[in-house]
Amino acid sequence: MAEVLDITVAEQVAIEQAYEAMIASLRTPFSREDREQMDRAFRLANYSHRHQRRKSSEPYIFHPIAVARICAEEIGLGPTAICAALLHDVVEDTPVTTEELQEQFGERIAQMVNGLTKLDSAYQSESQQAENFKKVLSTLVVDVRIVLIKMADRLHNMRTIKSMPEHKQLKIAAETSYIYAPLAHRLGLYNFRSEFLDLCMKVLERDEYNSVARKLQETKAAREKYIESFIAPLREKLDELGYRYRIFGRPKSIYSIANKIKKKQVPFEQIYDLFAVRVILDVPREKEKLAAWAVYSTITDAYQAVPSRLKDWITIPKSNGYESLHTTVVGPGARFVEVQIRSERMNEIAERGFAAHWKYKGVSNHRDVYEQWFESVRDILDNPNSDTVQFLGDFRANSFFNEEVYVYTPDGDMVALPKGSTALDFAFSVHSMVGYHCVSILCDERIVPMSYELRNGDRLRVNTSPSQKPNPSWLDMVKTGKAKAKIRQSLKEEKRKAGELAREALLRRLKKLNVEDEKHAIEVLARYHTGGSHVDLFYDIGRETLSIAQVLKPFIVEHGKLTLPAAPAAPAQEKDADSKGRRNGTNRIKGHTKLLINGEPGDQLEYSMANCCNPVQGDQVFAYLTSNAGLKIHRVICPNAENLMANYDYRIMKAEWVSTTEHSFVAELQLTGLDSGKGVIERISHEIAEMDLDIRSFQIAAESGTFTARVSLLVRNTDQLLLARRGLQNLDNVSTVSRVE
Ligand code: MN
Repeated sequence: MAEVLDITVAEQVAIEQAYEAMIASLRTPFSREDREQMDRAFRLANYSHRHQRRKSSEPYIFHPIAVARICAEEIGLGPTAICAALLHDVVEDTPVTTEELQEQFGERIAQMVNGLTKLDSAYQSESQQAENFKKVLSTLVVDVRIVLIKMADRLHNMRTIKSMPEHKQLKIAAETSYIYAPLAHRLGLYNFRSEFLDLCMKVLERDEYNSVARKLQETKAAREKYIESFIAPLREKLDELGYRYRIFGRPKSIYSIANKIKKKQVPFEQIYDLFAVRVILDVPREKEKLAAWAVYSTITDAYQAVPSRLKDWITIPKSNGYESLHTTVVGPGARFVEVQIRSERMNEIAERGFAAHWKYKGVSNHRDVYEQWFESVRDILDNPNSDTVQFLGDFRANSFFNEEVYVYTPDGDMVALPKGSTALDFAFSVHSMVGYHCVSILCDERIVPMSYELRNGDRLRVNTSPSQKPNPSWLDMVKTGKAKAKIRQSLKEEKRKAGELAREALLRRLKKLNVEDEKHAIEVLARYHTGGSHVDLFYDIGRETLSIAQVLKPFIVEHGKLTLPAAPAAPAQEKDADSKGRRNGTNRIKGHTKLLINGEPGDQLEYSMANCCNPVQGDQVFAYLTSNAGLKIHRVICPNAENLMANYDYRIMKAEWVSTTEHSFVAELQLTGLDSGKGVIERISHEIAEMDLDIRSFQIAAESGTFTARVSLLVRNTDQLLLARRGLQNLDNVSTVSRVE
């Protein structure tokens, strides 16, 4: 970028003109001091960037001026933001420092420019863009104008993307459609969003873009004629209403038309809603709603309305602040025409999003939609554990939705959530602690599954218990970024705790083996298994990808020290295999709710685990209503399942595990191996005892040097079962371990 090429006189003139044009485009009034400060910002930027040119070879300063102009003209920002926009690249690309800016322009502007400066370029990571974006977003809570300037910066870069090399174009466009378009949408900058998407499409799907653009151009005259024929009969009636209004046809974006062609699999010629008719009313705030519905009434008197297409975002605005009344009517020639009715104020909010919202703050009696959103962004940012890529995912999940569902708290407060949100999302939206401890949720006084998809008008009540906590399956039961981030945070914390327990267990085991220098022993083990990382070692043991037996297996204890031997260590044999209970009665589960059956907590029903497949927490299961033994829970892969489902589907009920509880389940394992006559029973039962598991029954049969054993174990969940299988598999002389299905 830094080509030393002096700026010509002609260029200097063009630069001054561009700056003056930018000043002229300011929509907000400004004082003499404001003007003076903007001039100083311009001069400093112009001087600092004097040796730089853009890829297009024009002097670099044209870029900050253009960004400032977008801020002024298209977002409606004022003088302070204009200064920051003019200076937005100086700290990053020139020797000017934030401190100097602070001295010359004060704290506010310096802070804004700092927010717009990318992270240290020495900081290299795959997700650098995500890191940068996270930084920009974290400024949202400091000063939202920083994000707005960033949007203007990106928009200008997209408008001038042609001068970039092809591979960079692709990268920038992909990033724009992934991050900036949803962000624009969330900030209510609808025009930015459609321009972003159009410009991205121009790069990413050039042929489709060109084809739609060409056809739009070809059909322009006919379309304008049609719009006029649609509007003409309306004018007189609208005049009669006595409001000042504007009515016009507005083409839809190329992106949205192309999308429709793709989705509906029809040619361009069959897409009729290439435009929308917009009626904008110039009425005082208190008359807006009445006037909008009067216009609606007039239009639907003239043209037949399509009932399912009515959208009233005036009574309940979208959560990004959008207000408008949309309907679709049958126009001349039986063509569907979308009509958007709104006030000038609503129109300004729709076009300039947050900036306009600010202007009307307090005027509207709706809840502060941005405050709510900022709060959810803050929640995601506050999560210290979320890595940046995850963060972006959560942010997108939280921001990129068009439709919402409106539900109510028991007190009748309305909560807007993304469409597709679940009852559990609602719990987290109330408060993260309500989410953490949620045990059941009532919708209109009936218990629903946590994964229940919310519907408009639902009234929800959350029951909590201090002992409840999130489990991994919850991640599949939520849609909002906030809930996802909170659940992940809690699971991470659990894993850290699990690591701690693993450490203690390992220390206990070392002590038992008479290891004297435990610190050294752990060092040795970590070096052997996890490249020296203690944390990873405990973590792996904690999450049960490594068992303690496996960890110690290669070592022996010599003179109180752990060392690698020539031969593997034999486990001590001291326990009697039969010391554990052998009772194998019915395993009915009593007490706390563990299963939701058809959405109801299972403890209200009589149920038991089927003996044919012995389900364990975490298995995919279903409930079957027997004729005499109540409900039986079977695994989906149970050999009887297919038959039951095929022939008695009316007796099948949905069953889901709801939480990790302290209950145990019976699981049966079959082991085979070589009978070396050296105490196979002892070895197996010893290993099981080491894993802290209880044996319910143990049968073994030996024949011509091989054995087959059946062991019934009490386990808490599928993870623990997996651990047991791995541990047994690792024993000498054991060749196979399988679960008896
Ligand atoms: Mn820039």
